[in-house]
Amino acid sequence: MPTTAVGAAHSNQYPIPERMKAWVLGGPEELSLVEKPIPQPGPAEVLVRIDAIAVCATDIEIIQHGVPAMIDGGSPFNRGFTPGHEYMGTIVKLGPMVDEFQVGNRVTVEVHAGCGRCQRCREGMYTSCLNYGYRAKGHRANGFSTDGGFAEYAVNNINTLIRIADTMSDEEATLVVTAGTAMYGLTELGGLVAGESVVVIGPGPIGLLGVAVAKALGADPVILTGTRDQRLAKGRELGADHVVNVTREDAVEAVRRRNGGKGVDYVLECSGAADALNVAARMLNRGGKICLAAFPHQPVLVDVAHLVRNNIYVYGIRGEGRSATHRAEAFMRRKVFDARKIHTHTFPLDQLPEALRYARDRVDDAIKVVVTARRAAAVGRAAAE
Ligand SMILES: [Zn+2]
Ligand SMILES: [Zn+2]
Repeated sequence: MPTTAVGAAHSNQYPIPERMKAWVLGGPEELSLVEKPIPQPGPAEVLVRIDAIAVCATDIEIIQHGVPAMIDGGSPFNRGFTPGHEYMGTIVKLGPMVDEFQVGNRVTVEVHAGCGRCQRCREGMYTSCLNYGYRAKGHRANGFSTDGGFAEYAVNNINTLIRIADTMSDEEATLVVTAGTAMYGLTELGGLVAGESVVVIGPGPIGLLGVAVAKALGADPVILTGTRDQRLAKGRELGADHVVNVTREDAVEAVRRRNGGKGVDYVLECSGAADALNVAARMLNRGGKICLAAFPHQPVLVDVAHLVRNNIYVYGIRGEGRSATHRAEAFMRRKVFDARKIHTHTFPLDQLPEALRYARDRVDDAIKVVVTARRAAAVGRAAAE
């Protein structure tokens, strides 16, 4: 039976069942794979068939402790909530009046759809929406306040979608939001870092891609500090000019020595270590800037006098605002850096607990663990083109 290409793209190519497989959170650390109805896209929304999703340290935090996820102002436990937020996939259905995307487009997603009506959203700071978690006003944060991506399908606001080129694999596309978070941090610090010096503390996923993004923006030098040689070696592969193992050298002295005896212009703090803010402040020149992209779990003592006397600026960032993910995607699409270097392990969706264990315990030196929902379908897509 003859079908036009358009007809195939809109109907037969992506049949949507009524129910899907989804992991839901019961009590703390209780995940079960259940069947759920597939959500329907509303105005300004699309239905995304999830093809791959990366595990984030925050997912592990949510599954253990609930926070920072919050459903209708309360705990996410025992609410049928699906966690997971670093996913990509294929658009299979458009909401009413959506013409910005087409069925069949490959996309990766930002976590936060701001309400679009508050002051912060108007300023591009939709990750700090003043109506955070208020669904009736249009706010969504998939995997935090609304259902996330450890499932076969999810609904997304069109403002959270980033088109992905066919030259980028599903697994790599899940890393765009991580690179976008690093990009957002550097944006908030002033954005233009060509020729300026940057230290990244902590070679986790955001720190490693922070090195790559800083280098791509022209920072010079980029210095990475951490405690594990293998991770620091990855940092070198991603563009660090110097690496410092702080178990063997004094971090501040080592950074200054590698920067010609001077302090640096910016520090991107991605370790969450208790003394990191004080260490970062001492790595800086007067008037330098610190971006905090991680945090310790307990309150810490801070040498405020040192910050004040040296005119040090301290910024906290939440997530990936100001469309930073689009800028990160452009670097990745143009192969300015290879984010795939941090993707270490892949598991199918039904083995999510094992994927989480690899990420949490850093089994086999896992950095980014990706869960794929549709490996067979992805092969089918390539064959159809
Ligand atoms: Zn994340
Ligand atoms: Zn808002």
